[in-house]
Amino acid sequence: MIVIKWFLVVSLVIGFCWLLYAVFPTYLYRWFHPNVYINVKRAQSFALTFDDGPHREYTVQILNLLKEHEMKATFFVVGSIAEEQPDLLKRMVMEGHEIGIHHYNHVSAWFLTPGRLKKEIQMCKDVIIEAAGVEPIFYRPPWGHLNLFSIWCARPYHTIIWSNIFGDWSLKKTKRALEAEMKSKLKRGAVYVLHDNGETKGADEKAPEHTIGALREFIPYAKQHKMNSKTLSELQKEGTSTWN
Ligand SMILES: [Zn+2]
Repeated sequence: MIVIKWFLVVSLVIGFCWLLYAVFPTYLYRWFHPNVYINVKRAQSFALTFDDGPHREYTVQILNLLKEHEMKATFFVVGSIAEEQPDLLKRMVMEGHEIGIHHYNHVSAWFLTPGRLKKEIQMCKDVIIEAAGVEPIFYRPPWGHLNLFSIWCARPYHTIIWSNIFGDWSLKKTKRALEAEMKSKLKRGAVYVLHDNGETKGADEKAPEHTIGALREFIPYAKQHKMNSKTLSELQKEGTSTWN
């Protein structure tokens, strides 16, 4: 009986410490966003961003679509996947897109020590530099999960979450619903997060097909409304550098 009691007490203490280390900071950063950026004030354009790639088929289709409509985007790549596709990273840079850090493995900061988190960020940065020859500026944590030390670990990069997330990692989100939501939320300074790879944990493998289908309708719509997608660095320059 005493053993069970102690087991419960220890579990409760560990659980509470984990909440303080991981879950609370994530929501505090998201609500009050000190040093965590969500959108850009006074910008003229908006930003399409893609997480979890690159993917040999879907990323290529997205790059083709962006090229056709002269739109720019930021790709938050997973280092371990990116090192298998260096040519795609080179193409992103050659066509004027930006590459950001999304960890070397697609792991949540909630389960990483500060040392391990720093390593995930550095290893992903090394892959980007090796493949594309550019130093990343932005960091987006997988699932937007932050821990107590994330901002410190991610220095000198800007940590950016998003202003609009659409659930496009799931096939439950139809192409039509996604397209309608993307159109209705279009706003200057907005940062959209979408996914160019469905092979990460919790995602549906073919979900990017819906994302690409929706983009085929959404991008011409945005152009028609004189709204261009820019890279995050360009968006930052356009605004007053005041991030929200
Ligand atoms: Zn992700």
